[in-house]
Amino acid sequence: PRFMDVTQWTRPAVLGMAGYAPGEQPQAAERVIKLNTNENPYAPPQAVLDAMGAALGDALRLYPEPDSRSVREAAARAYGHGLQPQQVVAGNGSDDLLTIILRTFVDPGETVAALDPTYTLYEPLVTLQGGRYASAPWREDGGLPVDELAGLRAKVIFVTRPNAPTGHVCALSEVVELCTKTQAHGVVVLDEAYGDFADDHGLGLLPDCPNLIVTRSFSKSMCLAGARIGLGFMSVAIAEQMHKVRDSYNLDRVAQVAATAALDNLDAYAPLIAKIKSERARLTAALRQRGFDAPESQANFVLAKIPAGALDGRGWLAALRQKGILVRYFGHDPRLSDKLRITVGAPHENDALLAAVDGILVG
Ligand code: PMP
Repeated sequence: PRFMDVTQWTRPAVLGMAGYAPGEQPQAAERVIKLNTNENPYAPPQAVLDAMGAALGDALRLYPEPDSRSVREAAARAYGHGLQPQQVVAGNGSDDLLTIILRTFVDPGETVAALDPTYTLYEPLVTLQGGRYASAPWREDGGLPVDELAGLRAKVIFVTRPNAPTGHVCALSEVVELCTKTQAHGVVVLDEAYGDFADDHGLGLLPDCPNLIVTRSFSKSMCLAGARIGLGFMSVAIAEQMHKVRDSYNLDRVAQVAATAALDNLDAYAPLIAKIKSERARLTAALRQRGFDAPESQANFVLAKIPAGALDGRGWLAALRQKGILVRYFGHDPRLSDKLRITVGAPHENDALLAAVDGILVG
């Protein structure tokens, strides 16, 4: 075939992008301990697997519910707070919800804001939408710079709580203050992908904050990263707009069945989440003993500053990789280049990580 220069018709916004680099995803054949993308170390509860298995039959001929109605009804039942199904939008992963939000509210040239550092997907999504990405640093104490953010007059402001990759949480009262101060300009998205691992969450704020959207992921606390499920909670009025924008069948039939079964079996998740929280405390303490600076995290990962020594961040990443352990490294960001983000695994995985760290420290 003749060479064709496709860049001549590619959108400039796309040409200018480096492309989002998600964490390495080795598939089953490769035996590694995978602590790099904050998945859950445990299998989904049997009731969820059984429901998914039962969905693998003749019904796959048929389209799923276009608006994931059963999932949204199950979510309203499961989460309380007086939530109605009309206040819920389901996404193909919570990343899908982020895209839907931007496509609903942001025209080319309009501003979208987030904190710094934060989830690295927001910026490419905003760029693709033709928006202008602005960021404000977290306050020194981990709080929200409310006035600075409000001053940006953004259409959408992303607040990640717990934040990635730091694992810290801002005060919920600051989220309310931000919503109040930005009501005239746009929506505040409280990204609670890791919310189930935190001490508190923002669903209870919705009645007081008409411009608030809370997003949740089933990839972390619900052991379903492979099924791609996320939920957004918001006012009925916002949900109506977002439903016009999302793909008609954005959750496949098996994912919808999985989501409903997971929501109907929240009790089965409680011990798994408790285990991850207690392992988080153990891992944090053990890393500190070994000279890492690891602040408290309210997520299912720990951001650990490497001890002074022969290896830099990239060196640690490679040394752990050689011992079959994957962690995440954000070397492009100077404030993060001396840190590793380590997902909290099952006890034997955390033990393996600590043993590998000991091996690397003795050289
Ligand atoms: N938000 C944050 C802060 C995340 O870290 C992630 C996971 N990479 C997501 C959203 C997206 O999760 P998912 O699309 O798997 O639900």
